[in-house]
Amino acid sequence: MSRVFNFSAGPAMVPEFVLQQAKEELLDWQGSGMSVMEMSHRGKEFMSIAEQAEADLREIMAIPSNYKVLFLQGGASSQFAMVPMNLLGDKGTADYINTGAWSKKAISEAKRYCDVNVAATTADNNFTSAPAQSELNLNKDAAYVHYTPNETIGGVEFSYIPDTGDVPLVADLSSTILSRPIDVSKYGVIYAGSQKNIGPAGLAVVIVREDLIGNAKNSVPAMFDYKTHADAESMYNTPPTYTWYFAGLVFSWIKNNGGLKAMGEVNQRKAEKLYAAIDNSNFYSNPVDKISRSWMNVPFILANSDLDSAFLSSAKEAGLVTLKGHRSVGGMRASIYNAMPEAGVDALVNFMAEFEKLNG
Ligand code: PMP
Repeated sequence: MSRVFNFSAGPAMVPEFVLQQAKEELLDWQGSGMSVMEMSHRGKEFMSIAEQAEADLREIMAIPSNYKVLFLQGGASSQFAMVPMNLLGDKGTADYINTGAWSKKAISEAKRYCDVNVAATTADNNFTSAPAQSELNLNKDAAYVHYTPNETIGGVEFSYIPDTGDVPLVADLSSTILSRPIDVSKYGVIYAGSQKNIGPAGLAVVIVREDLIGNAKNSVPAMFDYKTHADAESMYNTPPTYTWYFAGLVFSWIKNNGGLKAMGEVNQRKAEKLYAAIDNSNFYSNPVDKISRSWMNVPFILANSDLDSAFLSSAKEAGLVTLKGHRSVGGMRASIYNAMPEAGVDALVNFMAEFEKLNG
């Protein structure tokens, strides 16, 4: 067996240690004689798995006790609708910050439910920066402010948490959750799809302040009401049990490897190495403002796009895969989430230098 360094934006690499652990437990979870995927979600074995996963997530993210943690289906995309369904209350307007492809999707979904005030957009520079706090035109009557701390496609990240006063701040943390410590108390709602830094696809983790639960209109279907899931400990219907279990293994791996502080230190180092390799060459480039560069998703282009397919096929031969940029931007993109070992980034940096020497 030989494993590659997989730079996919998601589903993405998961820690090899966790894969081994899941393999060892696959047929018989801790003497139960069953696989986790065969267990009743209401049985005591699975309940203990679910509780431990939540406890570990609360510990590593230091989630305050007045927040609920929900394990839901529908990925992050369902949250684009569930956020307005649950947070608008009597208000008819919400603020959205537009920093690229994922913000735009959140905005177009919200427009089904309310007036969207685009509090700032970086469309003018083709979404190569995040707006500064002073550039946010916030409406104090907005029901909430939504933003995308890390744009997975554009590789643009906020270097600060927007200050929205008393208006709840909502973050689509899909591609940056668990990558470093974060102050949860600054947020009303945090949500993230699971298939990047959490584990396999199939879950959205939603962290929601308790006072924002229970405000959905009567017309909101039970499955889309945070209250339904908060009251039922995310067991209103059958949850994606195996993904939940697997996420728990990842949370425990993070806990045993120095927590989010240690993740953040390694992630910063990995990102700095890769951006240095790009900036120190005349062959590779990244258009994003330095202060807004993502630690998780690093897009770059080659000076000559005719060489793109040669780059990708040689990289593959070197065991470096899924480096093709998103179809909407082209070029390359290296996603380097927690589970990408530093050795993977080193191998990519060496490969890039070698490729440039031969073709530059
Ligand atoms: N938001 C962001 C920032 C994302 O990167 C993604 C997926 N790449 C999504 C939302 C959509 O997530 P899902 O596929 O889980 O609905």
